[in-house]
Amino acid sequence: MGERLPIIAGNWKMNNTIKETKELLTALIPLVKDAKAEVAVCVPYTSIATARKLIRGTNIKLGAENVHWADKGAFTGEISADMLKELKVEYVIVGHSERRQFFGETDETVNKRAQAALSRKLKPIICVGELLSERENGKTDEVVIRQTKGAFAGITKGNLKNIVIAYEPVWAIGTGKTATAEDADKTIAVIRKTIGGLYGKVAAEAIRIQYGGSMNAKNVTELMAKPNIDGGLIGGASLKAEDFSKVVLGA
Ligand code: PEP
Repeated sequence: MGERLPIIAGNWKMNNTIKETKELLTALIPLVKDAKAEVAVCVPYTSIATARKLIRGTNIKLGAENVHWADKGAFTGEISADMLKELKVEYVIVGHSERRQFFGETDETVNKRAQAALSRKLKPIICVGELLSERENGKTDEVVIRQTKGAFAGITKGNLKNIVIAYEPVWAIGTGKTATAEDADKTIAVIRKTIGGLYGKVAAEAIRIQYGGSMNAKNVTELMAKPNIDGGLIGGASLKAEDFSKVVLGA
């Protein structure tokens, strides 16, 4: 895996009130303080300020779950990069499959959101991954190549150090089904090669690519042993401090 620092990021999705945020982070902070991997929690907007206060001075980084591409304006329900930056958010998930599936996110809007994040020095975690039907039809590589090229359109090489990619096969998210470590590694290699085609081999070797999809304390070691897997985007297992800490410490 070379010099890439693994990053384990929790994706809380639409979970945790402010009270629950306090409980979860208070329990998590001491459990992950000696982590070798980089640790982040991507939390709902309503929890950002609380999370920020609690994790200040710890090794846990703050993330959000989405960002709009416009600077400001008539986009009811959306949040701008400036708003996140003001709250000292560092990472932001872009193009999660739930956004693609339920909120009409496309390769184009994923790209626009990623560009907006980068323009304000937020670090996007760009999600790609195939549906079950696409996998069954042998289209996995084609889909992740298309999504990767789409997400990176117009993004310059200088920005790559601030981008994390998450390979998340949609059929493995929240289902308890994990891609085999071999399959995950193979598809991540395809994504890495796609980055290589766009930006060159050195850039491809440097960019961090996580696996996501029912990653947990039991499978983290096997997944992390693969050369291309640089950490994980963790949904369900990020909602309990003990479970998440085991993934973090296993990375
Ligand atoms: C996710 O939502 O990014 C995810 C990987 O979820 P889970 O770990 O629950 O499959």
